[in-house]
Amino acid sequence: MDNLILFWHRKDLRINDNIGLSEAEKYSKKIIGFFCLDPYILNGDDVAPARVKYMMGCLAELRQKYQERGGTFLIFKESPKNIIPSLMKKLQGKAIFWNKDVEPYSRNRDREIAQILKDENIEYNVFWDQLMHPPGDVLTKSNNSPYSVYGPFWRSWEKLEKRSPFFAPTSLIGLDEKETEIVNQLGAMDLPTAEALGYDWQGNFMLAPGENAALERLDYFCSDLLVNYDEHRNFPAMDGTSLLSAALKFGAIAPRTIWQKTVEEWENTQSDEARENITAWRKELAWREFYQHCLYFFPELAQGPYREHFKNFPWENDEKKFQAWCEGKTGYPIVDAAMRQLNETGWMHNRCRMIVASFLTKDLIIDWRWGEKYFMQKLYDGDLAANNGGWQWSASSGMDPKPLRIFNPASQAQKFDPEAQYIRQWLPEIRFLDTKDLVTGKITPMDATSYGYVPPIVDHKEQQRKFKALYAQVKEQW
Ligand code: FAD
Repeated sequence: MDNLILFWHRKDLRINDNIGLSEAEKYSKKIIGFFCLDPYILNGDDVAPARVKYMMGCLAELRQKYQERGGTFLIFKESPKNIIPSLMKKLQGKAIFWNKDVEPYSRNRDREIAQILKDENIEYNVFWDQLMHPPGDVLTKSNNSPYSVYGPFWRSWEKLEKRSPFFAPTSLIGLDEKETEIVNQLGAMDLPTAEALGYDWQGNFMLAPGENAALERLDYFCSDLLVNYDEHRNFPAMDGTSLLSAALKFGAIAPRTIWQKTVEEWENTQSDEARENITAWRKELAWREFYQHCLYFFPELAQGPYREHFKNFPWENDEKKFQAWCEGKTGYPIVDAAMRQLNETGWMHNRCRMIVASFLTKDLIIDWRWGEKYFMQKLYDGDLAANNGGWQWSASSGMDPKPLRIFNPASQAQKFDPEAQYIRQWLPEIRFLDTKDLVTGKITPMDATSYGYVPPIVDHKEQQRKFKALYAQVKEQW
């Protein structure tokens, strides 16, 4: 009889190029995949309905892939700590496998579960799958410590040998009738909809959930868009980036599969320019890994600023201004367009994430953690490491050598949305205004009000002076 193996899917909602799953297959074909809808996470106050919907879409496809291979994929709405030991015992599992994560909550939970399994003499095997190079593999040469600056991290990361994609199981063995009865008694359920879980979101994803859509997009991006990536990635009105962030967050696609594709593109061209574009994209993939390494080695980042003295920054935290920012009603067209994109699509272009984050922290002088949380409540690619890293970078409180960076919304729009296409798309009430007025934001208060738009809620220059003065005071203590 085949040994029964459990595979716990978490941030690896795919069948292809999944290290833990490939390793599990060495034990047996009878791999029972499962996912826990953890009530602790689902009931959090930073859950985006769009993200839940994306995740449910990935799970539906994953379950189908198990079934197509003859296997079983189970869903539980239960804390993994409760369900895993019971499942293993009642099904007489030989071993359980999962892939590791960097988030503090997951690491603590995994440690507890591992202890329970150890105490019960149950075999468990864990792997690093979601990163090209796991924490500990990219360390400074001088004293073997983690990097806190991206540049040198990238240079080390780039040089390390990369692993090739792992094979997916082509056939699996599912549960028999008796075992199915057991898992049903333990609470195995049909895949619920996001709405049934209390998360209603009716928007359209920039990229459909699941492994198939991610692989197709990877092909299209690499064949048609990558060649201009370095320039086009900065223009929010263009289809210039991969849109793979949510797929990477939920592991609907593996970083090795992506890397392999960049290797093929590299080998298919002799053009320096094309290769520069490939490098530019690889650098973004490395940012993702950098922030995950940072969170792993400095888990306190999840709670507050990396820089100690920033903890006492005198944020003004004006609730009304925060509300205006959230709703895209600050009177700064590029900021408002971006916030409306976020509210409607659950996604925002990277250039705009930087603009609105700078605006919240440096123009409105609002604690970056408010923005960080709002992003998590909206983004379907919302990811603790990347989001926290992006916000701390923008607030100048994080792991970044350049201390102070203030974005001027008008200059940003002039440079990256020169024809105001993006602004017009998201601010239909003022789409007929002159391009120049839209990008510079020079709209008279009377005009703004009569078009159903809003006059600027703060003066950028004045706020810039104010923020610099506050920052200088805080910096004196460093
Ligand atoms: P591409 O340009 O195609 O890049 C490829 C991949 O590299 C992305 O899918 C992503 O996984 C990774 N990546 C790119 N840029 C970054 C970056 N700066 N930091 C970390 N990873 C990066 N990204 C998230 O995935 N989740 C978040 O919650 C998130 N929050 C952010 C908050 C702020 C304030 C800022 C400034 C950035 C944030 N980012 C976040 C990073 C970045 O904006 C998105 O990853 C990117 O816009 C996704 O688009 P893409 O997939 O088309 O990216």
